[in-house]
Amino acid sequence: MEKPEKLIVDGKRLDGRAPDELRPLKIQAGVLKRADGSAYVELGKNKVLAAVYGPREMHPRHHQQPDTAVLRCRYNMAPFSVEERKRPGPDRRSVEISKVAREALEPVVFLELYPRSAIDIFIEILQADAGTRTTGITAASVALADAGVPMRDLVSAVAVGKVDDTIVLDLTKEEDQWGTTDMPIALMPRKKLITLLQMDGHFTHEEFKRALALAFNGCEQIYEAQKRALREKYSVKPEEE
Ligand code: ADP
Repeated sequence: MEKPEKLIVDGKRLDGRAPDELRPLKIQAGVLKRADGSAYVELGKNKVLAAVYGPREMHPRHHQQPDTAVLRCRYNMAPFSVEERKRPGPDRRSVEISKVAREALEPVVFLELYPRSAIDIFIEILQADAGTRTTGITAASVALADAGVPMRDLVSAVAVGKVDDTIVLDLTKEEDQWGTTDMPIALMPRKKLITLLQMDGHFTHEEFKRALALAFNGCEQIYEAQKRALREKYSVKPEEE
């Protein structure tokens, strides 16, 4: 796609959203039979699967920690997830995202309950349209809860940014590409503790405050959808009793 002259026309974005609007969001918990926990998330055109294994004995053994479990995270983009085929396997970007996703999730997990164990999180991007690290974190936290891992809260994540001098919530690929600022954020919503904040571009102090408020609001909506997905999986319907 060529760069359009404007990304926001009459207050509406190219996909018709208002600046403070999230893309359509769908979350499903427990979609994989063989994983201990799993989740599938669609956010606009993003399609993301997360699988959790563990807590289980850490292998290799010399990576075991005597007083805590270790969280391991792998973010991976499928070769068919982007327009041009992505070369399979890890690259600098996926190694970075695996690290920041792990760090965004670590604070919610009671790791000290499982010494010598590993908890493995796999984030697979099936279709990408910007915001895959945040969508991946959102999916992974539902998968952790689905696995029954004791947690302080969920983690909800979304990106905010600046496009045509307007602060917007949940950037698309076009907005990420041609906008001026992209700021992914992950949050433990109950206590409003930020566990991931990255920034590509610049904000003035005022813009930063507005962007943060938008992100908090977006995370709140995502949080509700995450809890709904978990309730749907675990509520026993009368005919199943
Ligand atoms: P995020 O997906 O978290 O926004 P980036 O800002 O690095 O992370 O990437 C933005 C978008 O750029 C991705 O969601 C994806 O649509 C696209 N993209 C990333 N890496 C590649 C790649 N190797 N090939 C094609 N498109 C890519």
